[in-house]
Amino acid sequence: MDHPRFIIEASEAESMAKSSGLTLPQLLPSLVRSSQSLARAPISKFQVAAVAVGASGRIFIGVNLEFPGLPFHHTVHAEQFLLTNLALNAETQLRWLAVSAAPCGHCRQFLQEIRDAPNIELLITDNDDPSFTPLSHFLTHPFGPHDLLPKGVPLLLEPRHNNLTFSGDYSPCSDNVLSNGDTPMISQKLKFAALEAANASHAPYSGCPSGVALLDSQGKIYRGSYMESAAYNPSLGPLQTALIAYVAAGAADYDGVVAAVLVEKDGAVVRQETTARLLLQEISPQCQFKAFLCTSAD
Ligand SMILES: [Zn+2]
Repeated sequence: MDHPRFIIEASEAESMAKSSGLTLPQLLPSLVRSSQSLARAPISKFQVAAVAVGASGRIFIGVNLEFPGLPFHHTVHAEQFLLTNLALNAETQLRWLAVSAAPCGHCRQFLQEIRDAPNIELLITDNDDPSFTPLSHFLTHPFGPHDLLPKGVPLLLEPRHNNLTFSGDYSPCSDNVLSNGDTPMISQKLKFAALEAANASHAPYSGCPSGVALLDSQGKIYRGSYMESAAYNPSLGPLQTALIAYVAAGAADYDGVVAAVLVEKDGAVVRQETTARLLLQEISPQCQFKAFLCTSAD
């Protein structure tokens, strides 16, 4: 079987559309069904796919992830996976989106974090007569960033740097092991990868950005940044977004994750450590995990 793909490069997407006599947005619905099989939904067995084209012309795919043995709030929805996939690949705009089923309220809310969200064109493939319709039709009186944030604050997918650093004398270039104790897989490199993820985190509501870096058994690193929602609960934790990076890279089982580092702010009112530890223990019990605190240079 081919390696599962969560991104289609612009040139390939264009030739796929051309050979079918379609525009890029018209191509999206045809990719939804095949993408549904990439979902990991062992609880609901309800496989959801969300497929979008970004301003770069690349096509991005998102699916739902469920985690048996844990509370539902650890779940990743397909639309959240999709937005994380865009963020991981520095895609700053989303206009056209096709989904296999009507987005739940949680996802209609989460999509509000994008600039110009009301004008996202959404198509639901299991409708009788699927057609692109603005998101404003599905969420008529939205609550979102505009209710809470001053103008000019970067929204989700927009570039930012949170100016977080470690106090003390750490070298970001060193790959030295930090401890020979119970976490020998945790290196400086992994720690700084998590700091980099925290610096890209979208946390304008709490002011508590955070990031996770995962290490697999091949030595590959996957970064994930915490993403907040104006409605709080739809927020997506940094371990979830790192796991999205891991799944999107084609990784098979979660127990291939051998080490994980979380970086969050000293004194943060929103903390991730306990919930991240819980999720990791369930999906990869042998994984070494360490949390580090950072401070803001602002
Ligand atoms: Zn949803």
